[in-house]
Amino acid sequence: MGLPDYEITGIEEREGWVRISARYNGPISCPQCGGKQLRLKDRRMRLLRHESWGTRRSLLQLETRKWRCQGCQRSFWQRFPGILTRRRATEPFRRSVSIKHYDGISRRRLAQRESIASATVERWFQDYLRLQTAERKSAPCPQILGIDEHFFTRRLGYATTFCDLKNHSVYDVVAGRSEASLESYLSKLEGKHLVKVVCMDLATGYRSLVKKHFPQARIVADRFHVIRVVNHHFLACWKELDPAGAKNRGLLSLMRRHRHPLKPEQNVKLSQYLRANPVMELVYRFKQNLGYLLLNKRLNQNQCRELAPQLLRMIALLREQPLPQMVQLGNTLHSWREEIATMWRFTRNNGITEGFHTKMEVLQRQAYGFRNFNNYRLRVKVMCS
Ligand SMILES: [Zn+2]
Repeated sequence: MGLPDYEITGIEEREGWVRISARYNGPISCPQCGGKQLRLKDRRMRLLRHESWGTRRSLLQLETRKWRCQGCQRSFWQRFPGILTRRRATEPFRRSVSIKHYDGISRRRLAQRESIASATVERWFQDYLRLQTAERKSAPCPQILGIDEHFFTRRLGYATTFCDLKNHSVYDVVAGRSEASLESYLSKLEGKHLVKVVCMDLATGYRSLVKKHFPQARIVADRFHVIRVVNHHFLACWKELDPAGAKNRGLLSLMRRHRHPLKPEQNVKLSQYLRANPVMELVYRFKQNLGYLLLNKRLNQNQCRELAPQLLRMIALLREQPLPQMVQLGNTLHSWREEIATMWRFTRNNGITEGFHTKMEVLQRQAYGFRNFNNYRLRVKVMCS
């Protein structure tokens, strides 16, 4: 039966249902004082849903007794291990339903299969998640923290993910992405001194928060986002310089990529275009050099020291250009120059966080959207770790 101290006295099968009659042989004691001297007062049959046998649903029939404790003179109905008071289903059954829902069987299908209400599935599942989080207790702050935003709902807007990049799990999700909405969460967070590295995209709001709450942590820019910003400004600049050429979708894809993975015929096409537009060629060359500079990783201190002046020179050059897009890019990179240079020392990036965002999206779809952020948070914390 999956429960201790029970003895099965009979099994009956009818119309897809299995009815198990059982007797409890374990010790009984007073829940108030633990006394063993009891006097029988009443008896009743208790019918409970129990774990299914394959496709056959099962019912558990138990005789329960009312006792009077001779020690403290209180009366009580007998309690059974694995069955909580006033519940009409055993814990193994509730658990099996929750696990099936966790594994992706929808509430409706599960409700039909087990002939219970779909709201019941949801309620049991919530209990299960709460139990799981309680078992995990409060995990310490991650050593390598990834911070990123993701869209939650139209009503509540964005949420922020705190990701443990070392152990590949979501540490927490918090509603909102502004400094004001994260401030109260971060000020209450314990063990902040454990965080050594924080990885984030180029969001100034997050940076000032991290500097305030994790003063000992090193901030690392996310490589993917930095290169995306460079590409974005570069393409905008291209649109200003040559609006007709920028509309060519084939060229767009070639201009956007790094040069080394291009095929020979693609290279020829790109070179042809660049030869006809000498200004664009200069800008493109510059962007390629900058891109390759940003791709460096796993460097030691000395190697970084050599690269740093190169980056600073490029940023200065950008800010001197007569092109507004390039100046803007230069300013952004200038304000993040430290975090970008730190990127060369590390290999960790927010790719893991982005992966979890995909998983969270799936979670939202499976639930047909969430209205309550706390339910969402509970689910993410259990299922994304
Ligand atoms: Zn008692």
